[in-house]
Amino acid sequence: MPAKLANGETVKPTKIRLEVSTYCQLRCPTCPTTMGDTHRGIGAGFLKFENFRKLLDDNPDLEEIELSNYGEIFLNPELPLMLKHAFEKGVRLTARNGVNLNNATDEMLEALVRYRFEFMLCSLDGASNETYSKYRIRGNFDKVISHIRKINAFKKKHGTDLPNLGWQFVVFGHNEHEIAKAREMADELNMSLHLKLNWDDSFSPVKDEAAVRREMNAGVASRKEYKEKFGRQYTEHICHQMWDWPQVNWNGDILGCCRNNWGSFAGNAFRDGLEGSLNDETIRYAREMLLGRAEPRDDIPCTTCRLYKNMRKAEQVLERDET
Ligand code: SF4
Repeated sequence: MPAKLANGETVKPTKIRLEVSTYCQLRCPTCPTTMGDTHRGIGAGFLKFENFRKLLDDNPDLEEIELSNYGEIFLNPELPLMLKHAFEKGVRLTARNGVNLNNATDEMLEALVRYRFEFMLCSLDGASNETYSKYRIRGNFDKVISHIRKINAFKKKHGTDLPNLGWQFVVFGHNEHEIAKAREMADELNMSLHLKLNWDDSFSPVKDEAAVRREMNAGVASRKEYKEKFGRQYTEHICHQMWDWPQVNWNGDILGCCRNNWGSFAGNAFRDGLEGSLNDETIRYAREMLLGRAEPRDDIPCTTCRLYKNMRKAEQVLERDET
């Protein structure tokens, strides 16, 4: 059946996601950046301050920018300049996808506080170096904790509660016994604890499923169980980013959502402007596909996405009112 053309609604989000770095110094075994997929699909690079500055200056309606995705934000040497400029423009910055926080200068850590970074989620899968380093290869738990303590000291010095800090704990078989200890440590470090289900059942699956179910808000021990219980995929909310919180790559290419690391839409935010690039024909078509109003098309990244394929298999479409 030929793909039908879709007009699709246009969007003008006040929140975007903008990748600051696709480089990462860790080698987490099941991460697409470690496997080279990210660099093959969307390139390797750092966001340039000049592009960041122009994007903010040209789009005064922007309220919030998420900076983290497939790489480590602290590897970008121009990060402090971006924090300062966003602060001066009144734009909130976040790293909700996560940072590993293994390498950060005192200048970077103080800049987070000085320029009132809004929220940062630290990837800490475990409560000791022994468990942490089983997945976060090349990482050092104690070093990350020492950086968090430094941020807390800078917060005291500058008299602010920002950045709010989160502790992301991906639950594996090798670290599930440390959840209670992580909760205690997070409390002591003034961090919120966020438990997350492992995305790859073949790597260290949970052992005590009943105990993990008790710990997880959703009451499940795996993504498979989540689907069985709720009838939707664990990460399906990501597709809503195409409307509300779209992903822009470090070079301005439009990726649409934080999952897409294999292909870009036709627009480029630095070349075509943010609003124009977020509303070009290809991304409007993709939104129509997700809503079940258009057939898959070869030039649309969603067509080859597992989430989209599963939705079609289950004869489901994205429900926008579920956001
Ligand atoms: S289908 Fe996949 S690529 Fe498309 S928006 Fe959803 S998660 Fe992203």
